[in-house]
Amino acid sequence: MSEGLTAAASDAQGRPEGRPLLKGRKMVRQDIIAAVSTGLIAGGIGIVRVSGAGAAALCAPLVRIRGLDLTEAQPNHLYYGKIAENGAVLDEALIAVLKAPHSYTAEDTVELQCHGGPLVLQRVLEAVLRAGARLAEPGEFTKRAFLNGRLDLSEAEAVMDLISADTELARETAVKQLQGAHSEKIRALRAVLLEKTAFIEAALDDPEHYSLDGYGEKIRPELEDLKAQIEALLSSSDNGRVLAEGIRTAIVGRPNVGKSSLLNYLLGFERAIVTRIPGTTRDTIEESCRVGQLVLKLSDTAGIRESEDTVERIGIDRAREAVRDADLVLLMWDGSQAPEPEDRALLELCAGKPALLLLNKADLGLQADPAALEKETGRACFAVSARDGRGIGAVLERVQEMFRLEEIRQQPVLVTNLRHKALLQDAAAALENALETLRSGAPEDFLTIDLLDAYRSLGLIIGEEAGEDLINEIFSKFCMGK
Ligand code: GDP
Repeated sequence: MSEGLTAAASDAQGRPEGRPLLKGRKMVRQDIIAAVSTGLIAGGIGIVRVSGAGAAALCAPLVRIRGLDLTEAQPNHLYYGKIAENGAVLDEALIAVLKAPHSYTAEDTVELQCHGGPLVLQRVLEAVLRAGARLAEPGEFTKRAFLNGRLDLSEAEAVMDLISADTELARETAVKQLQGAHSEKIRALRAVLLEKTAFIEAALDDPEHYSLDGYGEKIRPELEDLKAQIEALLSSSDNGRVLAEGIRTAIVGRPNVGKSSLLNYLLGFERAIVTRIPGTTRDTIEESCRVGQLVLKLSDTAGIRESEDTVERIGIDRAREAVRDADLVLLMWDGSQAPEPEDRALLELCAGKPALLLLNKADLGLQADPAALEKETGRACFAVSARDGRGIGAVLERVQEMFRLEEIRQQPVLVTNLRHKALLQDAAAALENALETLRSGAPEDFLTIDLLDAYRSLGLIIGEEAGEDLINEIFSKFCMGK
């Protein structure tokens, strides 16, 4: 057997093309895939996951467990053994065999729990590939779980959200989605749509037994209710985005009021630095700062990180752009000086936006009275110092209240995924068309077209109507080994 496997390994792709049947076992001709599932980083343990029918037989020649061939190992047990290739021991490991469908991919799976050194894992993985497995594509284990029906598409996407969650709330939401809260809701909506469509179709086919008289009137409130439910999901999506991606926060103010000092203060706040994301343009940098349950996405659109000579050129247009794109504006004035006309102009820019007015440099003594300004401007106003940090805690508390994170947390289904949002919008539009069809008295078969449109859009969320392209695109965003 090992000869056949070694021969197959000479294929540059490591594809198991032409691999002989293993140990007389009838193999389903599907690739066996393998990857380091714990990432190529140093850690206590690292796992090489091998998935596909025949995974145990493929790994058997590499695994030495005292007195036992891996193909005879009991599923769901951990065995202590050695991983060896051509007589050379690569590592000591704990080895688990999982039987379809009781594994992550719902396929036969072997997990080699090795020591977590990048080189060790690389060597073990290479040995498995030489034995005939193919390197898994990013997300391919999860893709197989989806294709094998263990997860639907929205649940599979939740896996990625869970891995990338960097707040407690994002994690909670991803877990709910992974456990099917979204899918359940979407399935319930689809079931109603299907029932209505089926009835209309039946009545059109068989008018003697099913009558559509008065059906329009009966169905109207039900469709309105469906649309309202979808709209409620949509309205959760802004909160969802805030939760998943953080609050896009613009710090806006005249030059030298202390914007970059505030940014630096926030980034130094407790355990605050989360990520540094290079923006799409060369000169934009986004920083995320985490404060308790909040993630503020601070972008330097206010010119925070421009080189010295351009700082002065940041005009009101730039500020307008920053305000437009923000979920939250922190408008900064230099509180140690009397406000200038430009300060007030910036305040006007913030109309209709969640914004807080920060009077900075409070340590130098304030020229303005925050309480009076609060009355005058209708904006919450805080005396702060980006130099010594005074007042900033109060600002962050207020932000937490503004975004009602506790309330968001209580929502059973929170849409965080932009793909889902777009599809919900399509479904709502299709239902609006259906209601319009009812209002116009057009024939019922038009109605079924609209209802089926809504049905399909919702189906794409959970992957029931999804074509291969979409599926590939979604899973390609996953990380290696997942
Ligand atoms: P920006 O142009 O708005 O980004 O302003 P900077 O953050 O570069 O600050 C301009 C100047 O004000 C620098 O010299 C800072 O050290 C100073 N500054 C910023 N915040 C404070 C503060 O709260 N108190 C005092 N005393 N000085 C500050």
